[in-house]
Amino acid sequence: MNQPPIPLVDLKAQYAALRPDIDAAIARVIANASFIMGPEVRAFEEAFAAYCQARHAVGLSSGTAAIELTLRALGVGPGDEVITTPFTFIATAEAISAAGATPVFADIDPATYNLDPAAVETVITPRTRALLPVHLYGQPAAMDALAAIAQRHGLFLIEDAAQAHGAEINGRRVGSLGDAACFSFYPGKNLGCYGDGGAVTTDDEALAGRLRKLRDHGRVSKYVHDELGYGHRLDALQAAILSAKLPHLDAANAARRRLAARYDELLADTDLVLPVASERVTPAWHLYVVRSPRRDEVLASLKAQGIEAGIHYPLPLHLQPAYRALGLGPGSFPVAEAASQQVLSLPLFPELSEEQQERVAGAALSSPARRVDSMAAG
Ligand SMILES: *Cc1c(COP(=O)(O)O)cnc(C)c1O
Repeated sequence: MNQPPIPLVDLKAQYAALRPDIDAAIARVIANASFIMGPEVRAFEEAFAAYCQARHAVGLSSGTAAIELTLRALGVGPGDEVITTPFTFIATAEAISAAGATPVFADIDPATYNLDPAAVETVITPRTRALLPVHLYGQPAAMDALAAIAQRHGLFLIEDAAQAHGAEINGRRVGSLGDAACFSFYPGKNLGCYGDGGAVTTDDEALAGRLRKLRDHGRVSKYVHDELGYGHRLDALQAAILSAKLPHLDAANAARRRLAARYDELLADTDLVLPVASERVTPAWHLYVVRSPRRDEVLASLKAQGIEAGIHYPLPLHLQPAYRALGLGPGSFPVAEAASQQVLSLPLFPELSEEQQERVAGAALSSPARRVDSMAAG
């Protein structure tokens, strides 16, 4: 292979672009030797809350911890049901289970891959306490319809915004669209740190206060603990890195949208199904996901040309061995199941070059996914 490989995500390119700011942030934390909580965490929380158009942000150790602690802080636990999508990373449902509640799945919309509000309505029971939509691939879920359902049934509405930092509906940022929103700063996310990290944003001061207590061993003063909590704080080092990166997030998301539009052009008139953004939505494309009944052949063709692609996600959660006990077999959520067999994520990161994109498109089109006109010609 004579051409350099193209990764799905290139974190080294991102560090190269921001290196002086990030190195200075890390050096500052080490020089101050203030590693746990303190001014770095507070400063990032304030900046991130403002960015998300929310009153409060609480820094946490991961996105998974953000979901689990939000549910616990809202009093959702054993005997309660939380409705979510089966077509997401397992952490979404895992956090519901970790809180002691039961994940209840509803099928997705085939165009956006996000939770289908009509399907949600059919699985509400007297035990339902919360809706947990995911803004998958950086596209906000149908929050207006979900908020109406939540309101009608007296349910909490919690965003899993782990893939959508900076996405908007009608000018309103994710993080401000429900009772609380859970973010991950896992390195490959749109806003990523250099390890694990997460946050919850909310306008609810009492909820923010309870999360601050829960993340820090239920502590109300140094050695007085009001209740049993967790060691789920955001590290000061990670907060400092995130503060250095946050001012660049809008530009990075704009680059993702530009690159997605260019993929749309390069792959137009093929038999690949391309991503669609809903009306009034500004996506923060975390992944550029195409769809093909011959997905595995396209994947093989990309791989043969040194191009890394991904499948998000190959097995819906109700078919995961870990969720066998839910007793949901194949056929339970046909839209999610079909998507899991057909979706393919192409390389996408803000520093991806035009030349790299052309190579990706060329490799995808040299596979059985080809121009519609050449297919018609046989
Ligand atoms: C990454 C991710 C999470 C979990 O975040 P971690 O920080 O890795 O715990 C949760 N939900 C979704 C949709 C994610 O993509």
